[in-house]
This record gives sequence, structure tokens and C-alpha cells, in this order.
Amino acid sequence: DTRIPIADALPVVEEILGWMQCTPGVHQLEVAGSVRRFRDTVGDVDILGTADRPGQAVAHFVELDLVREVIAQGDTKATILTDTGIQVDLRIVPPPQFGSLLQYFTGSREHNIALREHARGLGLSLSEYGITEIASGQATSYEDENAFYARLGMQFIPPEMRENRGEIQLALKGRLPVVLEQGDIRGDLHVHTVWSDGQASVYEMARAARERGYEYIAVTDHSVGLGVVSGMDADKLEKQRVEIEETMRRLPGLRILRGVEVNIRADGSLDLPDEVLAGLDIVIAGVHGAMNQSADRMTARLVRVLENPHVDVLAHPSGRLLGKRDPVQMDVSAVFRAARDNGKMLEMNAMIDRLDLTDRAAAAARDMGIPIAIGTDAHALHHLDYMQYGVRLARRAWCEKAHIVNTLPAPALLERLGRV
Ligand SMILES: [Zn+2]
Ligand SMILES: [Zn+2]
Repeated sequence: DTRIPIADALPVVEEILGWMQCTPGVHQLEVAGSVRRFRDTVGDVDILGTADRPGQAVAHFVELDLVREVIAQGDTKATILTDTGIQVDLRIVPPPQFGSLLQYFTGSREHNIALREHARGLGLSLSEYGITEIASGQATSYEDENAFYARLGMQFIPPEMRENRGEIQLALKGRLPVVLEQGDIRGDLHVHTVWSDGQASVYEMARAARERGYEYIAVTDHSVGLGVVSGMDADKLEKQRVEIEETMRRLPGLRILRGVEVNIRADGSLDLPDEVLAGLDIVIAGVHGAMNQSADRMTARLVRVLENPHVDVLAHPSGRLLGKRDPVQMDVSAVFRAARDNGKMLEMNAMIDRLDLTDRAAAAARDMGIPIAIGTDAHALHHLDYMQYGVRLARRAWCEKAHIVNTLPAPALLERLGRV
């Protein structure tokens, strides 16, 4: 299997896009393929652009520092291998064909096959260059994807939804879900500080959150039993409360939720006593050890946690680290039922090597009516920007604003958390 975690591909994509955007005469530039669809693993990286002088743009591309090997280079196209072993194709295309080609190279393959079948019913044939009327032979290219989808009689389909999971049928009826957008997010529900293993203070994190336009963040440092250098116990949570209250006075308009990421022990008990958890605004509970348990034991462990009245959110439910650690074994439907029956939330952890809930798990949670909390698990200021990945993952799961708790205004969120 040559697929790589998207965490490894994104820095490469960003570096290439940044470099190419500085190339004179380059206009449109877009990554296609599974990166654009935001799959959690990707194969090759495809980049499309338009340029006044394609040959010059291609020559500029192969000069990138990260190029280990130029596999092929032509007038409008080049293929390189990066120093991290990722294959990247750049295609400079004529502007009138940009939309058609972007749609084609974004895929997915299954989505495009289903589109082709639908088109045939309309007397049309599809190719990477556009849409051809079979009877007349008249071919049309598209500058943008909107017009391409419109010609097929359907709504524009967001790239994250192009997996042939029913999106074409809904788009034909004009009934695609209105999926989550970054602007819907009002706060981050999983943030660490120097009180545990984070790199920034409560104040720095809070200020960075306010700079991002948030109404609230939840400070959720690790509990003591995890064995990180400095974990939270009752005494430290009380001291942190003072700092949080001071910080809120310094940063009016931002609500800082007092929380904790309490560690789930091997038997499903928690690191902190109930009376300590009861005094907090939000409690997220996560598995960080004894991850190789049998499915039966892990399921019982998680169900026990979800039955604790003081727990609000199950953090990074599968425990996977993309490319490094497999998900834990558990009976997912039993765990999700326990979440639903006990009124708990499931976290969509947006940390780029977690992306946990996965798209399919999030879709299952959504269908069961379980609220999803997106948290970045930020351990540094710039990690707050991982929220964009959580949003894109939520779009893959067809989540709308109403499915995500941190789209709620602060008062409604606190009410939802039973803290009013
Ligand atoms: Zn954690
Ligand atoms: Zn965490």
C-alpha cells in the first residue's frame, strides 16, 4: 500500500502552492485528487494551474528544493518525486478547460464513474476536457466546476463529498446537505496549556483563540495519572481556575471553559474523583494507555466511562495515529449506543495525525443523533489552525452546522453541557 497519511502530504502541497504562486504569470492553482477531497490518506498529489507561459511555470516547479528526482518534464506538465518520496504531478492547462480538468482530477474515481453513467442518460459523454453532446458531437469545456455540474442538471458538489455515497442523487434533486463551514465554528473544545504538556499559557491560548474570532475555548489539560510531566489534580485545577478568571477579565468577550482531559484507566475508571469533575464546565475523557485490550474489554471500558454522569465528551474515540497506530478494537455500535443513551458527545479530534472520529464513524454518529464536538487538541498556538481539518473532515461526513456542538453560541453550549 503506497498511500500516505494526509499529514505527510499537506506540507508538501503547501510548499509547492506557495512557491508556484510566486511564479510570474501563474494564475489559477489548485490541488486536486484525494488531498482536495480531504481523504485521510492520499496517493499521488495532483496540482493543476493556468499560466501565461506554461513551459516557464513547469521549469520553475522542478527547481523546488524538495525535488529529489524529476521523473518527467514536458512543455505543460511535469512529474517529480519529493525528498519524502511523494510523487507530485503538475499540469498547466488552458484556462477554458480548468474547471473540467479540476473536476476530473479531483475524482473520486467512483464519483466520476457514476457521473458518467448519469450523463449518458442525458445523451452526454464526459471526459477530462469537458462534456460532449453525443448526437451532435459538440464538445464544451468549463472554466469552473459550477458550470460543469449545472450542465449535468445538478448542484455543485463540494469536493469532500465526491465519493459516490449518494451525493449525486441528492444534488440532482437540489437537496445536498449544507455542510459545515469554518465560519460556523465558534470555539475550540480541546486545548492544552503549560499546566500539562502544552507550550503556551492559558492567556496566550485564549488570546490566539480570540484572534481567530472564537467566542470560547475549553482548557482541557491532562489529568495527573497520565504521567505527563505535570498533570492536573484537584489542587492545580483550583489554581488554574484563578488564572482562567483573570484571563477572562483581560480578554473580555471570550468565555474560557474550565475543563480537563481526564485519563481513562484500563478498567474504565477515571483519574480524578467525581466531585472534582462535577466542578468543571466540561470534562473530556480519553484513552491514552492499555490500548491493546480485546474488543470486549475496551468496549466495557468505554461504556463505563460514558455512563459516568460527569463526563461530557469521549476524546479521540478510536485512538488511532495515522500511519503509526491502529485504532483500538471495540464494538463501535455498542460504544456509540452508550454515548447516545447517556447523552454524551463524541469528539472529532482535528489533530492532523489523528482525524478521529473518521468520516464514516462521524456519519454513523450523526445518523444516531449523537452531537459531535470538534477539538484541535492544540498543544501550541498554531495547532489551533487544525480546526480547518476538523471542518473538512466533518464535511466528508456530511455534517451540517446542527450536528456540531461548537457551532453553538456560548450560552447554548453551556446549557447543552448542563452547566447553566
Ligand atoms: Zn488525548
Ligand atoms: Zn488532548
